[in-house]
Amino acid sequence: MKYKRILLKLSGEALQGSSKSTNINPAVLEQYCDEIKAVVEKGVQVAIVIGGGNIFRGGQAEALGIDRVQGDYMGMLATVINAMALQSSLERHGMYTRLMAGIKMEQVCEPFIRRRAIRHLEKGRIVIFGAGIGNPYFTTDSTASLRAIETQCNVVLKGTRVDGVYTADPEKVPDAKRYTTLSFQEAYEKGLNIMDMTAFTLCMENKLPIIVFDMNRKGNLLKIVNGEEAGTLIS
Ligand code: UDP
Repeated sequence: MKYKRILLKLSGEALQGSSKSTNINPAVLEQYCDEIKAVVEKGVQVAIVIGGGNIFRGGQAEALGIDRVQGDYMGMLATVINAMALQSSLERHGMYTRLMAGIKMEQVCEPFIRRRAIRHLEKGRIVIFGAGIGNPYFTTDSTASLRAIETQCNVVLKGTRVDGVYTADPEKVPDAKRYTTLSFQEAYEKGLNIMDMTAFTLCMENKLPIIVFDMNRKGNLLKIVNGEEAGTLIS
């Protein structure tokens, strides 16, 4: 495998599946587990950050008359709900997991302790980082970059519903072209929307590559971890 330790970023919104009839779609969870199991079985160490957008985002707070910071904490708690669902599914599929959160909630998960997280990964446990970095005004993309750097992951894999970064939005512009590789500088100069700026800058400054890929395509995660070209590599 090309990458030995990966940080997989999954969006909360994607957990709803296309029907959006429920916050957490069991078919999506199943599919995520299959993808993740395939790389775990190859001995790859897996860390995961899952978003909370299917339940709550801090940006929604003010329109509801809720204080922004309060809303951000609500968003962080939403990520823990998703992380718990994912943890349970992964365990049901026979994988070993630990959930570590940026906010203390000792009845449901461990606090994030960097050295301990690395130890879990070395032992082959999947580590899910919940509750973001534990601070408002950040996103789960920033959490993914930060935790990946802290736990010495080789790459951030951003699983989305498109198969990479395009010259324009492929859902709106039919002849948009996919980039196979990009430098951080090019991505920045072209204003391509890969991650929010905080997350992107953290990766750029720490020379941590990002791969944007389609998480819904069967077998894709294994391909990417094996170094095959199936998304956009930003490095
Ligand atoms: N959030 C935060 N600090 C963090 C991570 C997340 O305040 O370190 C909040 C923020 O309000 C965000 C919400 O949690 O809107 C849910 O995360 P995000 O929107 O990144 O989830 P996704 O879009 O990936 O589902």
